[in-house]
Amino acid sequence: MRAVIAMMNHETNTFSPVPTPLEVFGKHGPYHGAAAYRAMKGTRLPMGAYIDLCEQAGWEIITPVAAIAPPSGPVDARAYTQICDAIIDTVKNGCDALFLDLHGAMVVQNTDDGEGTLLERIRAVAPDLPIAVALDLHGNITDAIVRNATVVAGYKTYPHVDMYEAGDLAGRVLMRAMRGEVKPVMAWGNRPILAQTLCMNTDAQPMKGFIDLAKQAEREGALAATGFGGFPTADIRDAGLSAIVVADGDAQQAQRWLDRMLDYAWERRADFIYHAEPLEQSIARAKGMKQGPVLLLDHCDNTASGAAVDVMKVLRMALEQGLSDIAVGPVRDAESVERMIRAGVGQQVSIDLGGKTDMPALGLKGEPLPLTGTVRAITDGEYTITGPQLTGMRAHMGRTAVLDTGTAVVVVTERSQEPWDLGVFTSVGIDPRRHHYLLLKSRMYYRPIFLPFAKAAIECDGIGVGSSNYKLFPYKKLRRPMYPLDQNVQPQSSAGNG
Ligand SMILES: [Zn+2]
Repeated sequence: MRAVIAMMNHETNTFSPVPTPLEVFGKHGPYHGAAAYRAMKGTRLPMGAYIDLCEQAGWEIITPVAAIAPPSGPVDARAYTQICDAIIDTVKNGCDALFLDLHGAMVVQNTDDGEGTLLERIRAVAPDLPIAVALDLHGNITDAIVRNATVVAGYKTYPHVDMYEAGDLAGRVLMRAMRGEVKPVMAWGNRPILAQTLCMNTDAQPMKGFIDLAKQAEREGALAATGFGGFPTADIRDAGLSAIVVADGDAQQAQRWLDRMLDYAWERRADFIYHAEPLEQSIARAKGMKQGPVLLLDHCDNTASGAAVDVMKVLRMALEQGLSDIAVGPVRDAESVERMIRAGVGQQVSIDLGGKTDMPALGLKGEPLPLTGTVRAITDGEYTITGPQLTGMRAHMGRTAVLDTGTAVVVVTERSQEPWDLGVFTSVGIDPRRHHYLLLKSRMYYRPIFLPFAKAAIECDGIGVGSSNYKLFPYKKLRRPMYPLDQNVQPQSSAGNG
């Protein structure tokens, strides 16, 4: 048996000003061939699971491409075409099965449905090819995705600590189907809920109950069931909450499991909407906390939401209110990194930190924060992830420098980097446990990493294209009516054609 295994992973925030060229899909762009295999073999990503499964089965493996980039604005058309062509050309050369590690919320300059369009192109050249697809819990599911795959399974955790298991499940079901043991039939659907990612923690309600119903369907005989929170800062028709159920031969049963999940979500729709505390109040609350580390979560400007990662509002407010002993990061500011490298370790510099990125979709200009301090470290920004998220993957922050102002130590990077692992600090010589405050540009990924040793976690409502305030975003393509943007939304009023 000859298996093609490939990854194309990007979560697109259509309001993000951060460009997404080919180069950001890996250290110097996507990995191809043997390099793709080496980059993903042994990782806890879906592609790592596919490789393990096919090797255990003794199948021949071809890995045309592994492309993964941090969330940002719409993907460059040429980058997308190049990644897709690598997969399609390999399929055209002949194979018995295709295993895809995708996201589900990829928007490209020339298509709103990155995954669905890829799958349509594959189906056009290989109408009967068995195709397994693993997706992120934040996927905005479309009919084209489901119609053109054999099996789809997504993560059941956020923060995502079961990426491997999702790939393993999708891959196993496909292999069983190829052996004739099962007959996958898929049902999918959505409800008009633009759920917010801050309300998708799978350890808390309402998301926990939604995912529990997916697990229950699997216990009752579904081959795979996934609840997708969706990714709300994507102005496309199909953004929002959805689900996919794969049953064994029984389409009506698949639909019943699906409706049970979606009806639950609809009844609890109000709980999928986040209510923020004013920033002044959050920082004042943090100031009163004598026991650290206290996490200050600058969630509106986090990498994983496709934000600019250089908005200084929360740090500015923390310094104005007199907080000290703050470790901050990472902040994306290539210009400041360059200035610190030119100054050298141990030298004093004055920089205008961050604020280099305007946010035209929100009508906002970048506002740098002038800081003076000592350059503490300069590194190549590389480390291997050891935590439970994206375990084993090599991380590339670009050139990285640390500024120490006396009250704050700031990790400044050339590339966007979510604080998804201790490595963002330890790789530059900072022990995050030793600081009273940790200002993290994070909304959910901090949980398995920083929460275990933190004394408190405070959500700080700054500003940015990762904000949970829908009033900031000018939606045009999103299907309407949509909860909570519109009044009197009915559960089926804008349902997908699942
Ligand atoms: Zn996600």
